[in-house]
Amino acid sequence: MFYYKNLDINEKGNLTFNKADTVLLAKKYQTPLYVMDEDMIRENCRIYKKALDKFYDKRGLALYASKAFSCKEIYRIVASEGLGCDVVSGGELYTALEAGFDPEKIYFHGNNKTKQELIFALEKGVGHIVLDGFYDLEVISEICEEKNIVANVSVRIKPGIDAHTHDAVMTGQIDSKFGVALETGEAKEFLLTAIKKKNINLRGVHCHLGSQIFDLEPFEEAARRLLNLMIEIRNETGYIIEELNLGGGFGIKYTEKDDPIEYASYIESVSKTVKNICNRNDFPLPFILMEPGRSIVAPCGITLYTVGSVKKIPGIRTYVSVDGGMADNPRYALYNAEYEAVIANKAKEPKSQIVTIAGRCCESGDLIGENIKIQKAESGDIMAVLSTGAYNYSMASHYNRLPNPPVVMIKDGEDRVIVKGETYEDIVKNDI
Ligand SMILES: *Cc1c(COP(=O)(O)O)cnc(C)c1O
Repeated sequence: MFYYKNLDINEKGNLTFNKADTVLLAKKYQTPLYVMDEDMIRENCRIYKKALDKFYDKRGLALYASKAFSCKEIYRIVASEGLGCDVVSGGELYTALEAGFDPEKIYFHGNNKTKQELIFALEKGVGHIVLDGFYDLEVISEICEEKNIVANVSVRIKPGIDAHTHDAVMTGQIDSKFGVALETGEAKEFLLTAIKKKNINLRGVHCHLGSQIFDLEPFEEAARRLLNLMIEIRNETGYIIEELNLGGGFGIKYTEKDDPIEYASYIESVSKTVKNICNRNDFPLPFILMEPGRSIVAPCGITLYTVGSVKKIPGIRTYVSVDGGMADNPRYALYNAEYEAVIANKAKEPKSQIVTIAGRCCESGDLIGENIKIQKAESGDIMAVLSTGAYNYSMASHYNRLPNPPVVMIKDGEDRVIVKGETYEDIVKNDI
């Protein structure tokens, strides 16, 4: 009945999430409310870790792509599972460090890092800076020269692969703001330039094809292309690039249209491809990195709302409005992302309606989704929107001066607050 095993229905007919009654959670903490499942987050971390150990002989590391969901507690959880993490801003980096994350296991991404961010990262001992292009290389070389230090870096390459996902989340093709292009020779030129810089230790190559990808083939092809470039560089200069980072983007099941494959199988097939190519070319096996974000946290989160107005427009549609919306989940407004929803206090009843779920912001585009099948919705009902663990809390805004909802973590049925909800005082605290 549900795609993920952390969802169930109890004897009261209420939706449960990791054994916690969602209707009681809504009562206890009010709505809107983000709820996360610690046990499943840990399980997901272990899937990647175990697969890298098994198929690639422990010569790999999964980095949690923390932009998917960033707060101190998630960095603590991920660190305790032995994963590294990637960050894409000074703010994410600061949060990780505040949570005690080992800076050696942090990878710093971004297509336009500021000089201040780079200085901050280097001063804190961040292990790896993933350079996005020549501008990044120039800025970091300057900093390293001034400070007389050496930075470990890799470079983001766009391998020219169309991974068949939504335009807004596709990043591996030549027309992308991220990285240096492989097919034009730009990537090779970058590597040759970086190798010669004396304050730069070029450790790896990186690519990230996009998000919500369901095929193995793009990852295999990316591994092949990047590895061939590494071999070409070795053949021409003798320089060995040690790390191959294949990014994230592993798809999850939001609705019945989505057909994800097992995450371990990506690692199995990429490991085979890499080992084969290395064998044939007498190239040392690179250390492999993967950067799952969504697939670690998305199914481990739901959002609870209270239904308010229900507006039937005869012959057109029914608007079911909830007490949140694009301020806590902008993904439908951004790129028509689809979700499943359940009336939590009527979870046993059949889904008898097709509705548009609207938020409470002053924008017609403020929708959680259209054509959503759901139980009969009445004001006062608790609605659960499923699989909101990734790119919801982390994308939340204060539009209409809505305070951000709290985040509650569930471990084996027990709830605790990991991010406090904001108050009106929080909203005005920086106003002069
Ligand atoms: C966003 C991003 C990821 C994670 O993508 P998911 O689809 O959440 O797995 C990994 N690496 C980089 C560089 C990213 O920008």
